[in-house]
Amino acid sequence: MEFETVIGLEIHVELSTDSKMFCSCSAGFGGEPNTKTCPVCLGHPGSLPVPNRRAVNDTILLALALNCDITGCSIFHRKNYFYPDMPKNFQISQYDIPISSGGTLEIDMGEYTRTVGITRVHLEEDTGKSVHVGESGRIHGAEYSLEDFNRAGIPLAEIVSEPDLRTPDEARKFMQLLHSTIRYLEISDCKMEEGSLRCDANISVAVDGSMGTKVEIKNMNSFRAMHRALTYEEQRQRRTIRDGGEVVQETRHWDDARGTTSPLRSKEEAFDYRYFPEPDLVPLEPDEAWVRELREGLPELPGDRVRRFVSEYGLSREIAETLTGERALADYFEDAAGKGQDPVAVAKWIAGDLGALLNDAAVTIQSCPVGTGGLSELVELIDGGVISGKMAKDVLKEAFETGNSPRLIVEEKGLTQIADESELDTLVDEVIEENPGAADDMRDGKEQALKFLMGQVMKKTRGKANPKAASDIIRKRLT
Ligand SMILES: [Zn+2]
Repeated sequence: MEFETVIGLEIHVELSTDSKMFCSCSAGFGGEPNTKTCPVCLGHPGSLPVPNRRAVNDTILLALALNCDITGCSIFHRKNYFYPDMPKNFQISQYDIPISSGGTLEIDMGEYTRTVGITRVHLEEDTGKSVHVGESGRIHGAEYSLEDFNRAGIPLAEIVSEPDLRTPDEARKFMQLLHSTIRYLEISDCKMEEGSLRCDANISVAVDGSMGTKVEIKNMNSFRAMHRALTYEEQRQRRTIRDGGEVVQETRHWDDARGTTSPLRSKEEAFDYRYFPEPDLVPLEPDEAWVRELREGLPELPGDRVRRFVSEYGLSREIAETLTGERALADYFEDAAGKGQDPVAVAKWIAGDLGALLNDAAVTIQSCPVGTGGLSELVELIDGGVISGKMAKDVLKEAFETGNSPRLIVEEKGLTQIADESELDTLVDEVIEENPGAADDMRDGKEQALKFLMGQVMKKTRGKANPKAASDIIRKRLT
């Protein structure tokens, strides 16, 4: 049997506006339960919604970044269903005339690129948050449930992709690129663990070219969880088909601890949302000048920046992707690379050692104690043969901890490496004399002995010998 996996994603992004979508309550994360509420977001009778201009602005910006067409006149609808986390019993959303549609996002998989269609980006409001108290943490088996309406009414941009993704790897890549794109736009902090970026997936497995049955997966709370859930589901559906069974159209819940999906509700239990136009809101008609201004103000987006970093600086795609993941990190690199040193070496230090130091100390690149000048200086010291790459690691660590410049650290500690040939000559002579056995091995052509002798040279000089120069001298002497 010939299998083809088909994946589409539905992503919700909480916009980082000051206030909620239709009222002036704070849209900040957390807080004591039910302290950020008012009659509008609690759905009291007679209260009226007023759209948040900033939320509309940010959704248009996102839609433009995803190459969507902006709808001249879009409409808010009521999506009706009963659930305790939604006091109005309907959610204001968009239905058949969303704010934007028809976009694309191109992902680079290394061997190939894939252009993923964006069906639409629309605007809606978030629901409250239910806390199910009990062992499972889910509603089934809960002793009781608590409701927090602080989140109710926070603006959400919903992005729906076309079913253009073919593997869990592509889905993860898509989410990573979308995540950094949204972060570049500075419209959401996109924290999956705080729920400001959420993702559901539709996945089906087509057999011998005929369409498969779509299964929706919920509760994937990280990129890793999404990848695992899709991989599990892909295998489950293939196995079902191979065993002669039939994949059921349903919604399934991903259990991250167990690493499995289980049925949540079937097609028969699917809601009929009875959508109808929201009578309390007029259609949304963003004027053309506003949209034009947003289009012209779009920053260079991560996908484009990766391509430019590869062509302009000669970076590998992997390193370019790491550096462009955050806008500030990419800016830091460009600033450091502009100071005259080899950009590939600069990139390697930022993505490697500096990245690890930032990570360990939980410091962002914006407050990195090593400035771009300092990093460029470090690369210059290595290139000029003043310090070895190994010594540079320690210098960078100290610069990170003290904020001192690499050059100053090297001078103060007398860290310059020994590249002087006569000095190294003497050192090598000593090492050969002290280790006659290894020297004989080296003469017999045993390359292992070189490593040992180099180790002795490094020990004698406390790592200060220029490794290339020292090993050249040993070879000259003993071969
Ligand atoms: Zn409110």
